[in-house]
Amino acid sequence: MKIPFSPPYINDEVKLEVLDSLNSGWITTGPKVKKLESEIESYTGASNVLCVNSWTSGAILILKWFGIEEGDEVIIPAYTYSATALSVIHSGGVPVMVDVNADFNISATNIEKAITERTKAIMPVDIAGWPCDYDRINELVRKKSHLFLPKTEIQEQLGRILVISDAAHSIGALYKNKNAGVLTDITIFSLHAVKNVTTAEGGAVCLNLPEPFDNGTLYSNLRCYSLNGQTKDAFTKNKAGAWRYDIIYPGLKINMPDVLAAIGLGQITSYRTEILPKRQEIFQVYNSFFKNKEWAILPNFSSDGSVSSCHIYALRIKDTTEQERDKIIELISKKEVAVNVHFQPLPLLSLFKESGFKISDFPVAFDQYKNEISLPIYPQLKDGEIKFICDTVSESVETVLRFKKANV
Ligand SMILES: *Cc1c(COP(=O)(O)O)cnc(C)c1O
Repeated sequence: MKIPFSPPYINDEVKLEVLDSLNSGWITTGPKVKKLESEIESYTGASNVLCVNSWTSGAILILKWFGIEEGDEVIIPAYTYSATALSVIHSGGVPVMVDVNADFNISATNIEKAITERTKAIMPVDIAGWPCDYDRINELVRKKSHLFLPKTEIQEQLGRILVISDAAHSIGALYKNKNAGVLTDITIFSLHAVKNVTTAEGGAVCLNLPEPFDNGTLYSNLRCYSLNGQTKDAFTKNKAGAWRYDIIYPGLKINMPDVLAAIGLGQITSYRTEILPKRQEIFQVYNSFFKNKEWAILPNFSSDGSVSSCHIYALRIKDTTEQERDKIIELISKKEVAVNVHFQPLPLLSLFKESGFKISDFPVAFDQYKNEISLPIYPQLKDGEIKFICDTVSESVETVLRFKKANV
């Protein structure tokens, strides 16, 4: 049984939306992007949502807007996808990595230790779709505001460290009964092909800044900034007589095209009613299967009003080394079930190793990584396939554990 890891969800609704964009004669940023933005606003409750061409460019946009410059520090977890760190590097800042907790998410205690007078922002990451402890993180930046040294008018207005949630995985998740998207100053969802809701490539920046910021005005400014700093987008300029424009910022070119927004529009309604509930159902089927295995460490699904968006099913295998985990994956792959590892902690990757990060400084991140296996989780999976995945994983783990026992 051949089971892919994460195929995109493309049904007739999606195809019709894309066709509609193609037939309309307007394929780049225009009405479909606007509509997707307002769908995400009403889904999450975020004040304003700006869609751009990736999570990464959305993060760079926000860090640039906040005035991050050489020497400014941005605290991120060591356990994440590389884009979290790269967005900081591209905006001119310095990524400061801290270790995580046993739920894979950044540790608030470690954030507190890492805050200095150079800290300008924190980017917690909701790994696998499980929200970070935002109450503690939001409290921390208020508690530490005496350390904050504003260098720009915007930084002065905020008067504290900016919290940007890397919610690449967590659209649809809840933290203490509140939606991902409204938990911090800024939340960024990824709409990349493998994510829960996709536009092939894309990102959605949710704005929830406190007073005296006006999120509506900020939306307009960022929209302009995402389109070369041009005062009129191509859609507006396309209207008769509306040819003149100005350039008011050294903007980026990171707008989302309508033809891609159409893919997301075709998904977002069924995401709430079908896709997300199906992911959550599969997650729980896995949990009830693996909870009977004494070697399994189960990922978080829900507690205290928090619920995962079930982007990744991160199974961990007790007392296994990195090599044993790799062997298990080899056996699973022989049965043509595609699994993955989320993530290799950043200090294991060449770029970060060469810039001086050492994995030994992040023992929890390594422990989480060394025995982790991500199982396929998406709405197209059939009951028989889920059963096959459970059995294949289980047999592969037990084969490796038997071999280990025989060799001690
Ligand atoms: C996918 C991902 C990103 C990057 O998203 P893009 O839309 O591809 O830029 C950032 N952070 C995490 C945790 C991710 O998984």
